[in-house]
Order: sequence, then C-alpha cells, then structure tokens
Amino acid sequence: MRVPLTTRDFLDRAELVYGDRVGIVDEPNQPAPSLGDLTWREVARRGRALQAGLDELRVGVGERVAVVSHNAARLLEVLLAVPSSGRVAVPVNFRLSQEEVRYIVGHCGARVLMVDPELRESLKGVSAEHCLGTGDEYEQLLRFDTEPVPWAEPDEDATATINYTSGTTARPKGVRMTHRNEWVNAVTFGMHMQVSDRDVYLHTLPMFHCNGWGLPYSMAGVGAKQVVLRKVDGAEILRRVEQHGVTVMAGAPAVWNAVLEAAENWDGEIPGRDRVRVIVAGAPPPSRTIARIEAELGWEFNQIYGLTETAPLLTINRPRAEYDDLEPEERAKRLSRAGVPALGNRITTSESGEVLAQGNVVLAGYWENPDATGEALEGGWFHTGDGGSVDEGGYLTISDRKKDVIITGGENVSSIEVEDVVFSHPAVAEVAVIGVPDEKWGEMVTALVVLAPGEQADEAAIIAHCRGTLAGYKVPKRVEFRDELARTATGKIQKFKLRESFWADSDRKI
Ligand code: AMP
Repeated sequence: MRVPLTTRDFLDRAELVYGDRVGIVDEPNQPAPSLGDLTWREVARRGRALQAGLDELRVGVGERVAVVSHNAARLLEVLLAVPSSGRVAVPVNFRLSQEEVRYIVGHCGARVLMVDPELRESLKGVSAEHCLGTGDEYEQLLRFDTEPVPWAEPDEDATATINYTSGTTARPKGVRMTHRNEWVNAVTFGMHMQVSDRDVYLHTLPMFHCNGWGLPYSMAGVGAKQVVLRKVDGAEILRRVEQHGVTVMAGAPAVWNAVLEAAENWDGEIPGRDRVRVIVAGAPPPSRTIARIEAELGWEFNQIYGLTETAPLLTINRPRAEYDDLEPEERAKRLSRAGVPALGNRITTSESGEVLAQGNVVLAGYWENPDATGEALEGGWFHTGDGGSVDEGGYLTISDRKKDVIITGGENVSSIEVEDVVFSHPAVAEVAVIGVPDEKWGEMVTALVVLAPGEQADEAAIIAHCRGTLAGYKVPKRVEFRDELARTATGKIQKFKLRESFWADSDRKI
C-alpha cells in the first residue's frame, strides 16, 4: 500500500490521539487578540475553518497563501492547515522591507496575503487579491459552519511551502518544499531528538525560517505542547522555560548568547536544568558557548546543520553515550562539529571542499527558477555553498563558506544585494560587502567603500542610504573607506583577501 506522505498527518494525529490536551499556547503579548491555550482538537477545528474560509474565497489547490508575521498561533495554524488542503503556504520573513516583501508576494503569485497587525502600516504598499490582518480579519475568514472541501488527490510530491531565502543573487529565491520533504524532515528530526508527548516546545526560532525547521510538524505528530514566543529575549526565555516546563528549543547561537547573558542576572536556580535540550544551527557555535550552555544552564546541547533548501536537517550532533564521562572541554569540542548525516542522508565534499548532500529532504527546486535549480542540483548532489570536511568518524565540520553570503544572527544576507544598494549612493565608486567576526551576531555586515573622485560621504550617510530599502539586519553596521579594493588580474574583487585582515585573529573563517 502507498499512502501519500503529507503534512496533514501531523495535525490529524495530534487531534486523534491528544485532542483534549493543550497543543498550542499563544503569545499573550501581541497586537492581535491572543488565542490563549488551544487544545489540539481546537487547533484542528480552527484549521478546518481556515480551509473552509479559503474555499469560500475560491483559493484552489496549488495556489499560494503568503503570511508575514512574528511568531503567533495563527501563523502556526497556517503552517499546519494550509498545505494540508493542497494549497501552498508562503511564510515570509517579517523583518524584510516593504520592497522585499512586495517582490516575494509578486514572485510567488500569492492570492492571499496575511499580515501581522504590527506590520500593517509599514507594509501597506504590498497588495494581493485578498489582504487581511492576522487578528480580527483572520478570525472573520474562518468558517466553522461548513466542512472544507477535501484535497481530492493528495500528492506527496506537491509543493507544501515556499520559503524565500537570500543566496548569492540579489533577489531571494523561493525554496519549493514538497510534502515529502517536510514529512521526512519532521520524522527524522523527531526521531533523532527523541521527541515525545512529554515534551514542551518553546518557539525561540522564527516560524517563517524554513517553517521553524519543520519542528512544528514533528511536535504536532507526537502531541507535544508548543509555546509561542513572539520576540527573542534572554530573560523572557528563562521565564517561559520555568512557567511552561519547556524541554526543547531551537535557534541560532545568538539566541543562546542572549540567554547566557540573562542567566548571569537570574535569581535562583536556572529553570530547566537537566531537562532542556537545545538545538543549535545557523552558524558554527564556538565551543566556549557550548561549554557554557551545558555548565551554566545545565541544558543539553545539540547541533544540527542544514539549509532552507534541505528542510533543513542534513546532519546532527547529539551527545552520544560515549561523551557522558568526557571532561567538559573535550565534550564541547566534539559537540562543536556539525554532526553526522541524519537517517537517509548522504554527505560528501567536492574537490574544492564544498559540502554536497543527497537525501529526501533536499528541495524539489526553486520556485520558477529552473537555472538556479539546475545549478544547485548539478551532478545529482545538492551544492550547499559551504566549505567543510568529514573526519574518520563521519562527522562533518563546517569551516568556510564558498558562497557570497553573510550570516548574521542566523539570518542569511546576500552580499550582492547589499552591494547593489550601497552602490546606488551617488558618492560610491566601488563597494565590497563582507562579514566580519562579531561576538554577538557571529558575523557583522561590513561595507568597504571607495568613493568617487571629488565625492564625499561618511559612514552615517551610507548607512542612512541603505535604511528603508533594506531590512534592518542587512544594513551595514560598519562602513570603512578605502583607496582601492584588492582585485584579481581580471578585475574581480578578491573578497577572501578583504576578509583576511578581519579574520586573522579568529580560529574560524565564518
Ligand atoms: P538558511 O538557509 O538561512 O537556514 O542558512 C543555511 C546556512 O547556514 C548554511 O548554508 C550554512 O552556511 C549555515 N549553517 C547552518 N547550520 C550551520 C552549522 N551548524 N554550522 C555552520 N554553519 C551553519
């Protein structure tokens, strides 16, 4: 027998087995009316009402529903219920500028656009056939009195979500994730992290980012409670861990640095000691941070590696039994590697040291971009653009980046995109945008600028020029002026040379 693997399975099972239990705890502090505590039965009922509402708008199978929102229960509902009906969910980064969101909504051809009330004003210039806020207007869309039209021919190869990600091109690319991609990621992730109905998951990761790494599906499938956190704040994370008995969280190293900082001023025992498992990815976490998480917080450290293009789980480094008696420093060293392939994945490196991957989590393709798809999947391997090596135990370590991307606070920034904007300043003759090491964010966006003869501009002017066009986190934090930029004989800017002086004192290159 062959039953299509669709994301519908996760919420269906939560409703069937754990219907009476609280499934989602919405954020109390948000501009939309909070949904409070919802049982899994209620989440499923609301999901069907959302599908029936979309039926009434005549949004059909395969059509796109975009949503720009901070973490919220309604965004979770969209992820859990929209793809189940055969429609495609497009969760968009809420930090993007109006121009960037307009591009994404237009590119994916969304018929419905849902916007967080806090972003309504700043995104008022973005439109779609049906625009609604994710508060009262969303509630008015729900149809509790009609059954939704079922997805007539569920197909595991159909697109479930499109996640736009910044890469090596000026415009973001839409990663087309199929139901099968999501299913395999959620199930293998859940298996490797051993999630169960006893777990309580706190959303410290933005849900738009690679669908919250697919964890909303893993957690729903086993009936684990999901607690929504709207804004990352170290002390607030500690409070929620205590209040809700949280056991699992995920995020970039910057999130855990914020928690470590807050823990220094925390009165009494750190909540969740010997109970919490954190999952870290997005940048290579320094082994000192790993040792501190385990010693100062008493939380189990897990590292994964992957990309939006891989759903994301490619490799995982979970503390294995052999690590139990290691000295903390040695243990942290082992955990600082990106890990071994998750079940079903294959990892190798090319001659130039690029990490290549195969597995059922690898994207079907980029939305309406066959050239980029062909390039990414050339030779039957997915090209990650990361540089690394695999040791004799099969553990992957990420040490370099082959692609021109900066990762700051766990979010990708395309250097070219920032360069285009800086270059549009009339005083700029040449520019190179690079990532330089930063204690808090991992990398800091830095622009190296050569001014045109006779022109003048200072750092503040260049930064002000970028604001408004670019999302805040992409705007250079630092601008340095140079007489010239290192170039190859053919005139190509040598980024690795420009980066060298900034990274010389660092034991890593990313
Ligand atoms: P994104 O598609 O936005 O999730 O970003 C994926 C990129 O984040 C990868 O290509 C890597 O450059 C980086 N990344 C993710 N996980 C790790 C990790 N554990 N160590 C180093 N870099 C990572």
